[in-house]
Amino acid sequence: MIYLVEHFYSIQGEGKYLGTPSLFFRFGGCNMKCEGFGCVETSETGVEVMGCDTVYAVDKKYFGLNWKSIKDLETLIEIYHSYTLPIKADIVMTGGEPLIYADNELFVAFIEFLQGKGHRVTFETNGAVNVDFETFRAYQKCTFALSIKLSNSGEPRSKRINAEAIQTIATYSQDAFFKFTVDKESLRSGVDEEINEIIKFAPSIAVCCMPKGGSRAELEVHSEDVIEYCKTKGYVYSDRLHIRLWDQNKGV
Ligand code: SF4
Repeated sequence: MIYLVEHFYSIQGEGKYLGTPSLFFRFGGCNMKCEGFGCVETSETGVEVMGCDTVYAVDKKYFGLNWKSIKDLETLIEIYHSYTLPIKADIVMTGGEPLIYADNELFVAFIEFLQGKGHRVTFETNGAVNVDFETFRAYQKCTFALSIKLSNSGEPRSKRINAEAIQTIATYSQDAFFKFTVDKESLRSGVDEEINEIIKFAPSIAVCCMPKGGSRAELEVHSEDVIEYCKTKGYVYSDRLHIRLWDQNKGV
């Protein structure tokens, strides 16, 4: 079963394609929790749930009432057709972790449909899920933003870092880049070593760093330190444009 949490047409707010008009499909479910990010969201039943800034797309127990179960390709195609998109618009598959559906034939058929329409399909992924590029060749034509989680996510290393998944995506996809979430504190406590350890699995792809923050105020706390770090390392600073523009609003 595939769960779709929301869809909306906006601009890409992060990473290499920041600013690109993009239709977002946010899928429900994730292989991690990332409570270390400390964002709190209140469920419909009034429970405060801690996690990342998209915890509403991670925790089915508390937010699943708003998730739509997708049983056929036509439903996804109808959603696509409800928008009027230029071919140059990207399609962004995000979550949660969209690649938990990587082997789902319906999911793959939707990617093929989107590519057939001429769109670039980009995945926002934590890079810890193996993708079968041989069986599902549509992934070879996709772009992957590898947002590998660092220790500030609160997840154990064994869950966060899957060297084989990173190497495979970097080798077989059309385009891939790293995108790390960094904050003031982690910069003082060894995040550079963590990033070095991860990027050695795919040394030829670009590295973007963006500040931690689920709100504009939080971004402002961390952004200047992240900019200085990027200047030192030669990494690309990525803002979180959607949060900078629309703060904590969803679906924009
Ligand atoms: S991997 Fe991403 S979507 Fe999943 S819990 Fe962590 S930050 Fe949220």
